[in-house]
Amino acid sequence: MSVCEEMKTPYFLINLNRVEQNYTTFNNAIERNNRKDIIAYSIKANYDRNIIDKLKHMGAYFEICSNFEFNKLCEYEVDLKKVIINGLFRSKNEIMNYIDNGSLVIFDTISQLRWIQNIDYPIQIGIRLNIDYIKNDDSLYGCKISRFGIDVRDNEIFDLIQKNKNIMITCLHCHFSGNSRDPLIYAAITTELCRIIRENRLSSVKMIDIGGGYKIAPQFWSFNDYVHTVTSTLVKQAMEHLTVIYEPGNSLVRTSCSYITKIIDEKNMNGISYLTVDGTRLHLSPKNERNKFDYKVKQQQDGIIVSKQLIVGSTCKESDIILELNNIKRLSVGETIQFDNLGAYLINEISDFLMHKPEIYYCDQCGCELEERN
Ligand SMILES: *Cc1c(COP(=O)(O)O)cnc(C)c1O
Repeated sequence: MSVCEEMKTPYFLINLNRVEQNYTTFNNAIERNNRKDIIAYSIKANYDRNIIDKLKHMGAYFEICSNFEFNKLCEYEVDLKKVIINGLFRSKNEIMNYIDNGSLVIFDTISQLRWIQNIDYPIQIGIRLNIDYIKNDDSLYGCKISRFGIDVRDNEIFDLIQKNKNIMITCLHCHFSGNSRDPLIYAAITTELCRIIRENRLSSVKMIDIGGGYKIAPQFWSFNDYVHTVTSTLVKQAMEHLTVIYEPGNSLVRTSCSYITKIIDEKNMNGISYLTVDGTRLHLSPKNERNKFDYKVKQQQDGIIVSKQLIVGSTCKESDIILELNNIKRLSVGETIQFDNLGAYLINEISDFLMHKPEIYYCDQCGCELEERN
């Protein structure tokens, strides 16, 4: 029996080739625009060790926000000089540990800056800016306001920094993607960061970090749409010398992972066909916030059309209803259902509540690709 056949449902199947393809497509877009920019994978999207290893070997940088994530990257032997920390820091010592290891620390509050204001050796830092005041177009941004960053209109940041010649600001950062995630949002961020650099004569700034949130799909945008928009904005601003840091999370890993669960029981009641699977909705939407999944089912060739089939999980929760299938051919016990595009955020959020966390397998363990069904 092959490893593939021994895989016990329900399970996650990770296809590392997809991660590689996504990273390569992004990197090619950067090269095609004649740029040498940085892709820093935001590991909170999925810190599976094999995913991090794959990206590490491809030359990626990594973006993190916590000491927990920093320790993960240390454990995975990532080069700490390729780590960007958008911190929620608890002490000066924590910050100095990151800086002394060569990571780029991005400050989020004035108080954090005060911790280092008397530093007596040269350090290079980044600052995260809150530029919510540019969100004047509801169709692009919605009404989301951000709690992160320092308001640039608070002049104290520049006073603080300019008082100590040892502190060199090399990077300005900003992360938000509004409702639409339109490349135009990143053009607006880039324009504003360039303006801030110019008007405050921040000649030490060599990088702008425009955050993540890219929506990559055929019906939305490509990596090249984002890179091209940002690159042409830099040209317009006469700031091509700046290196751009992109922080994709979701867009690098979303397509890399599927969930496979098997139908183990069926019954009919009140005109509804209930098909119980060995998995649970808790594995697909732990916080119960999703109402749409990308899924593939195998319909029996000669099956009769059933008006309403409910795919339900094997837990005691009434709410454990995964799919409602209307007017398709009958599904039956023994069939598997595959849910796709689950590589971002989900796996880290699953708990052992009511059912064990599913096993994770990798396509290269069994030589299979994710099953392509129609
Ligand atoms: C979460 C996060 C990202 C990644 O966002 P995605 O929507 O997953 O691309 C990038 N930068 C920062 C600062 C983040 O908090």
